[in-house]
Amino acid sequence: VPPPETLAASARAPTLQRTHPDARHYVGGEFVTGGSRLQDVHDPSDGRVISHVPLGGPDEVNRAVLAARTAFPAWADTPLKERVQVFYRYKALLERHLDELSALVTEEHGKVKGEADAEILKNIELVEFACSLPQMAAGEVLEVSKGVECRLERRPLGVVAAISPFNFPSMVPHWTFPNAIALGNAFILKPSELVPLSAGRIAELLKEAGLPDGIFNVVHGSREAVEAICDHPGISAVAFVGSTRVAKEVYRRGTATLKRVLALGGAKNHVIVLPDADPEMAAGGVVAAMSGCTGQRCMAASVMVAVSGVDHILDRMVAQARAMVVGRDIGPVITRAAKERIERYITEAERAGARVLVDGRGATVPGKDGGFYVGPTIIDGVRPDMQLAQEEVFGPVLAVLRTTDLDEALALQNASPYGNAASVFTESGGAARYAMERASAGMVGVNVGVPVPREPFAFGGWNDSKFGVGDITGRDAIAFWTQSKKITAKWNREAGTTWMSK
Ligand code: NAD
Repeated sequence: VPPPETLAASARAPTLQRTHPDARHYVGGEFVTGGSRLQDVHDPSDGRVISHVPLGGPDEVNRAVLAARTAFPAWADTPLKERVQVFYRYKALLERHLDELSALVTEEHGKVKGEADAEILKNIELVEFACSLPQMAAGEVLEVSKGVECRLERRPLGVVAAISPFNFPSMVPHWTFPNAIALGNAFILKPSELVPLSAGRIAELLKEAGLPDGIFNVVHGSREAVEAICDHPGISAVAFVGSTRVAKEVYRRGTATLKRVLALGGAKNHVIVLPDADPEMAAGGVVAAMSGCTGQRCMAASVMVAVSGVDHILDRMVAQARAMVVGRDIGPVITRAAKERIERYITEAERAGARVLVDGRGATVPGKDGGFYVGPTIIDGVRPDMQLAQEEVFGPVLAVLRTTDLDEALALQNASPYGNAASVFTESGGAARYAMERASAGMVGVNVGVPVPREPFAFGGWNDSKFGVGDITGRDAIAFWTQSKKITAKWNREAGTTWMSK
C-alpha cells in the first residue's frame, strides 16, 4: 500500500467531508445544472475535494446568451444613473460580506487571509469606479457649425463575456462585469474551473442588490466553454485574462468571428535593483513582490536584476524570505501539478549552475499533509539563457541575474517577450526616470515591487502580456464595453452661414 502522500489528492479526498454543494451555472437569475461532466474542486491548503464544478459547453453558453439577450433591451434602456444604483447597493453588500467572501477565496484558492481580504477590498474599489461612470462616461456635445450640434453618446454592445484565470477568483471578474454591466451590457462570466465558487456568491449578491435576472450569467467549464464563447455569434465582445498561450488562442478565435477581444496574458516581471536603493525598502519590496500570493500574480516579480554591488540588499532579502512561515505568511500553490512544475524549475536551474540561496522545495505545513506548498525561493547566479530567467514560473521563485550597469539591466528586461510590469529600486530620480522611459512594460514601478495601478488608472501590459487595444479597467473599459454614436443635428433653418449649415 503506497503511503498517503504518494497518492493523488483526488484519490484520497472522497473519504473526507465535502464542504460545498456542487457549483452550478447561473442563467437568467437561476442556478442550473448542465455540462458534460463534473470536475473536482480542491482546497489547495490540504488537497481535500471541497466541491465539484460542471464543465459546460456550447449548450450552456447558448442558454446563457439567450437569457442575456432577452434581458438586454430593458437594461440598456435604463438610464446609466439608475443602473449604477445596483452597484452602490452591491458595494454595501461586499463590505457587509467581506469576511465571508474572503474566506471563500482562501478556501478555493489557498491564499492567506490578508491577501484574500485585499482581493475583496480591491473589488470594492473596482465597484466604486463603476459607480462613478455617470461622471466618467458623460457624453460630449459641441456646436460644430452655426446651428449644428454634434453629440457623442456611448451605447452598450449587447451580450458580452469575460473569461478569468484561477489566481484571483473574485477580483479578476470584478475587472470586467461592474463596468460592462453598468454601461448597459448583459454579461456572461466563465470563471476558472479551478476556483468556481466565488462566482456563484457574486451572482447571489448581485441579485440581492437588485440586478435584473439575465444581466449577469455564469457558465462554468474549461476549454470547451471558452471555445463556445469565442464562436457564439450572439456575443459581441470578450475579455480574457489568463496565460499567454490561451490569450493568443482566444484572441485569434474570437476575432475570427469578428468579436471585439481584449486578451491579457502571462508575464515575466523584472525588478532592477541599483546599489543606491534604500536597503530596507528594496529588500522588503522585492520579497513581497516575489512571494505575495505565493508568486501566483501576473504582477509578481520573478527576476531581480542586481546592478553591481547590491549584496547588502540581497542578504536582507534572504533573511526575510527565510523568516517567512509557510502556511501562515505564504499559502499553497493552486495544484499538485503546479507545485511539481515550480520545483522542477528550481532543480533545473540548480543543475545548470545557479545557487539556491533560499530553497522552498518540499515545504510542508503541520496538519496539512495534502497541501500544495512551495516556500519562498531565491536563486542567485541565474544566466539569461536559463529557462528560469525566461519563462513564467508562477510560483514564489526569484531568479537573481547580475549586471554591471543599468543599460545592461534594461536590455535584459527589454529582451523578455512579455511586458506586464517592470520596477526599479533606486534613490536617484535621474536613474528612475531613465529606467521608466526605457522599460518595455505597460506598468512600471519606482520603489514599488508590484506596480498595480489603482483606479481610475487602467490595468494592462504590453507585448505578449496583452493582445487587443486598450486596457481592461479604468477609462479604457468605457471604450471597450461600449460603441460610440455620433449624432449631428440642425433645428434652426435660418442658421445657414457656412458650408456645413446649408
Ligand atoms: P489559463 O490560461 O490556464 O486559464 C485561463 C482561462 O482560460 C480559464 O478560465 C481556463 O478555463 C481557460 N482555459 C484554459 N485552457 C484553455 C484552452 N486550452 N482553451 C481555451 N480556454 C482555456 O490561466 P490560469 O492558469 O488560470 O492563470 C494563470 C495565468 O494567468 C498566468 O499566466 C498569469 O500571468 C495570467 N494572468 C494574467 C493577468 C494579466 O492581467 N495579464 C492577470 C491574472 C493572471
